[in-house]
Amino acid sequence: MSVHVHKYGGSSVADTGRIRAVASRIAAHWQEGRRLVVVVSAMGSDTDRLCRMARGLAEHPAPRELDVLLSTGEQVTIALLAIALQERGCPARSYTGIQACIRTDGRYNKARIVGIEARRIQSDLEQGKVAVVAGFQGADPEGNITTLGRGGSDTTAVALAASLQAAECRIYTDVEGIYTADPRIEPDARLLGRIAYEEMLEMASQGARVLQTRAVEFASKYNIPLRVLSSFADGPGTLIEREREDMEQPLISGIAHNQDEAKLTLLGVPDKPGIAHEILGPIAGAGIEVDMIVQNVGENRTTDFTFTVHRRDYRQAMEILDGLAGRLGAADVRGDDGIVKIAVVGVGMRSHAGIASRMFEVLASEGINIMMISTSEIKISVVIEEKHMETGIRALHRAFGLEKANDYISLPCDLTSVDYRQLL
Ligand code: ASP
Ligand code: MG
Repeated sequence: MSVHVHKYGGSSVADTGRIRAVASRIAAHWQEGRRLVVVVSAMGSDTDRLCRMARGLAEHPAPRELDVLLSTGEQVTIALLAIALQERGCPARSYTGIQACIRTDGRYNKARIVGIEARRIQSDLEQGKVAVVAGFQGADPEGNITTLGRGGSDTTAVALAASLQAAECRIYTDVEGIYTADPRIEPDARLLGRIAYEEMLEMASQGARVLQTRAVEFASKYNIPLRVLSSFADGPGTLIEREREDMEQPLISGIAHNQDEAKLTLLGVPDKPGIAHEILGPIAGAGIEVDMIVQNVGENRTTDFTFTVHRRDYRQAMEILDGLAGRLGAADVRGDDGIVKIAVVGVGMRSHAGIASRMFEVLASEGINIMMISTSEIKISVVIEEKHMETGIRALHRAFGLEKANDYISLPCDLTSVDYRQLL
């Protein structure tokens, strides 16, 4: 009989009333004869609360102790949920990460799962019991408690699903699934029935924060169908699965946006070998991740160099550039944290030209200036002024017909010559 893994996030188990409701759902699945493993997060925003307590005692709490602390959040939920399930006559057993034999490397606060020995869980399942496992945690080879990074319970669920060869991994959350755009910005955003792993990765890394990116990578690697659905409403949610070759793809599946970035520019740096390394080396050395990079064509043997970083790293990156400017002989340093990155994402664009020019045309017709562009096979991202975010997203959503079912996929291949307004 196939195994199913269901994960419930913090908002779904925020108080004992909600834990009771989750227990009813699980008990109903169990009564249907499913073999069930349930992974849970800490209640509500408990992880934040625990972080705040530690930071009240020390500016930089030791990462090892932070993991011992943070892992307690999930430990509370597994015990309460197991108690609630037993109360319903559903035999359940709770497991911390260590008890579930979730082995990780030794990187505290951002550990990676290296293996799971699911024997105890497997034997519970064989006996008809429900295994309730703490998400977000494991143990390194020395037995130290580790955590997997914020949002890591998703990854626990997918990793368990992979090791138990589960038929499906469900992520129950507080939204109904993955939408064509953020419904708070675009009221016409539509719930997607399915989306390919690759598209979801672009959506997630572009800022659609429903799932931890690593969980999607894991699911893709082991080909685990992932379903995101609401724990408060009934509905099929969104299935995230391998791209289907037999099916015609919509051109664009969704529009993602990311408001967490800031842009920095070094103006008039000497255009010579090694300059990108001299600028980005110290940035990387400070542990700052760089996202988009643009270097202009050199003129008069100088060039402009622009890149984006997370907003929390903006000040530090500016200080580094200010320090570098003199040494490199740059003319000036500019920074802008009032930007947003918007991306159109879709595996269907692999086989269609003209999506980029259509996107630029739509933004131009709204009077929106594009500051940076980056593309991959399945996405086109632009950086624009933050104040245009809503207009930009809504105009693109309309222009690509995302509010309707994606039934316009048999458009002629040369999209540049088509009047979309008539077709969509
Ligand atoms: N409780 C952890 C967090 O808040 C892990 C998770 O919920 O996925 O990040
Ligand atoms: Mg989450």
